[in-house]
Amino acid sequence: MSDERAVPPVRVRVAPSPTGAPHVGTAFVALFNLLFARVHGGKLLLRIEDTDQARSRPEHEHVLIEALGWLGLSWDEGPDVGGEVGPYRQSERLEIYHEHALQLVEAGHAYYSFATPDELDSWRSSGQRGGAPPPYAAERDGDPGAARERAEKGEPYVIRMKVPREGQCVVEDVLRDNISFELDQIDDQVLVKSDGFPTYHLAVVVDDHLMGVTHVIRGEEWINSTPKHLLLYKWFGWQPPKHAHLPLLLNPDRSKMSKRRNPTSIDFYRRAGFQPEALLNYLALMAYPPAPVEGGEGEEKFTLSSLTDRFDLERINLGGSVFDLEKLRWLNGRYLREDMDPTSIVAALKEWAINDTSLSAMAPLMQSRMETLGDFIPRCAFFFASDVDPAVEDLVPKKRAAEEVAQILQTVIWSLEAVDPWESTGVEAAVRSVADYWDWPVRDVTRPLYAAIMGQPVGPPLFESIALLGTDISRVRLQKGVDLLGGVSKKKARSLEKAWTSRS
Ligand code: GLU
Repeated sequence: MSDERAVPPVRVRVAPSPTGAPHVGTAFVALFNLLFARVHGGKLLLRIEDTDQARSRPEHEHVLIEALGWLGLSWDEGPDVGGEVGPYRQSERLEIYHEHALQLVEAGHAYYSFATPDELDSWRSSGQRGGAPPPYAAERDGDPGAARERAEKGEPYVIRMKVPREGQCVVEDVLRDNISFELDQIDDQVLVKSDGFPTYHLAVVVDDHLMGVTHVIRGEEWINSTPKHLLLYKWFGWQPPKHAHLPLLLNPDRSKMSKRRNPTSIDFYRRAGFQPEALLNYLALMAYPPAPVEGGEGEEKFTLSSLTDRFDLERINLGGSVFDLEKLRWLNGRYLREDMDPTSIVAALKEWAINDTSLSAMAPLMQSRMETLGDFIPRCAFFFASDVDPAVEDLVPKKRAAEEVAQILQTVIWSLEAVDPWESTGVEAAVRSVADYWDWPVRDVTRPLYAAIMGQPVGPPLFESIALLGTDISRVRLQKGVDLLGGVSKKKARSLEKAWTSRS
């Protein structure tokens, strides 16, 4: 008789860092973890990896949980639903990481380093590994007792892994052949930072172990970190989980999907009026074959539950898929046509746009610009449109060249990236700073902006409108404006951006 109890129940996790707008890549990873958990009758955990104090924010966590919920994803344990192995937020587990780091120091697998950021910077800028050893090299074999004393006296320190100088580490991945890493190519990764917070690498291993995670299913960008994690498992004397690294979502030029080329925020798709089921379906298609159809090519439209019925982790295809907005729009159209009736369309419209929240945000901008209520919808249509089509002549002010305007709009995109909080005053300041920088009158900058953002040369106040549309939709529209004007070559963009970021 086989002893079924010997196989631990499947526990998987999705572990986002709340450092920005909720990313479609997080939904992609959450989806495949959820499918795997469901197929095996296991559990999915949501763990918030907020160890980067400078970038993590509670509001990002809140928006992320909302966005994943909107997509129809759910989890069994997490900061919002509780569970037995919490807390599920890393910032609430500092004591645990600290104890574990000290265990490693005591066992001789990690060491205190007092090298200062300046010393590290000058080593890095002087050519790194090829030349001089890093400033912490001498500390690897220092006296641990003396180092601990210095740390306890309050001298700033980090704790680093003492990665063996020779040997190999083999990463086994459910989806790939084994990958072998030379240990001498792996740096002495920081485990505890000078602010006392753990790095991702320590926290992820300690948590995955203590939370009973059996399978780590995450993005391919973490493969190179896995040897560090496996060393930590070995040093702690723990059995590592199984690993499966999912393919990356790609931009049309096959680079890693990034918000500069493709809208990456789940909120963009929500605001642009996509159906959550269609987006989730599309994300599944990024790495999973369509449903087989007898004698046919396969059905690309499927539900979470029908996908669960045929899901097998090993069938994930690794090619990496190009996220194609047009294809997603096509799939979304099928959902609207095939799964909804006029009544449900009305209900969806009310929930999505014609509701008190969106109308009351727009009413103050429109009140003095209307003679009848009938003026409202046509002039505000751009708020609801998933896309706008500005005319090139509206984008280019008189006596200006399209090429220059493209560069100005591109600079506005960069300038808006720094706006935080996203409010009309910050948006206005960002736009004005571009006008100053290029030494253009503000109206020559706002004119193309009106066209790009609204698809029309005039409309409600620009800065308020940009603020209301949000970062993602505004960025996509400005990018479209740049493209309609012939674009800015990669080379030109690099030099422009360099000059822009180093402006005084
Ligand atoms: N916090 C990491 C991220 O934001 C999680 C990586 C992992 O799943 O191990 O992607």
